[in-house]
Amino acid sequence: MRKPLIVGNWKMYKTITEAVDYVDQIKDALPDPEQEEVELAVPTLFLESLVEHTRGTNLKIVAENCFYQDEGAFTGETSPLALRELGIKHVIIGHSERRRLFYEDDATINKKVHAALSAGICPILCVDETMKRKQEHDRIVWVVSQVISGLQGVKESELSRVTIAYEPSWAIGSGNEAATPQEANEGCYLIRQTIAHLYNDEVANQVRILYGGSVNLSNIKTLMQKDDIDGVLIGRASLDATTFLEMVNYQ
Ligand code: PGA
Repeated sequence: MRKPLIVGNWKMYKTITEAVDYVDQIKDALPDPEQEEVELAVPTLFLESLVEHTRGTNLKIVAENCFYQDEGAFTGETSPLALRELGIKHVIIGHSERRRLFYEDDATINKKVHAALSAGICPILCVDETMKRKQEHDRIVWVVSQVISGLQGVKESELSRVTIAYEPSWAIGSGNEAATPQEANEGCYLIRQTIAHLYNDEVANQVRILYGGSVNLSNIKTLMQKDDIDGVLIGRASLDATTFLEMVNYQ
């Protein structure tokens, strides 16, 4: 059985004061992590204090990005080793905003996946799908190729530490253009099948695959009921503490 995973993705919202206030509202009201894991991806600047602030609670703090080298002359970047030292367990890699706005290509994303794994951090590898690709019925090639290149060189023994997120960019941030639960499940299924081809059925059945893109209070339950969706990545709807808490308790 794959354990459900709910991840809020704050992107570049909030100040540290707002962040601490938010975390105080939810940190003691979360489900038992044996039943469902809850995580918040926050800007790099907030990581240290939020990790301290949530110690001993059921809320885990996630990094939104990292670089692919442990150290060096890379102004403005964040080393996976430094994240590890803070106690960070998960890092989002290859979000569609990173791909689109910061020109991260598949090769860079693959290097980041390896760097995170060797630093002892578990990557949440995001796989995108543009509206153009969807309309051109090219989604299969597009999604599959990102999984193949993102996981290139990742050993079967490391795969249990990888989470994949299917995040069609036409659904991200639109508020009301979420994929239908069926479309979202198809994307996640496609990813699972690709992993089965690359590795085998056993690991494919163990890997957690999330859906992200306009997940909200009204669609979370139906999405979570789908066979191949093991969790969700929530952007906009995670910004409000009360809404996020309600979503976490969707059942
Ligand atoms: P959204 O963002 O929920 O606002 O669509 C999701 C994401 O980008 O992770």
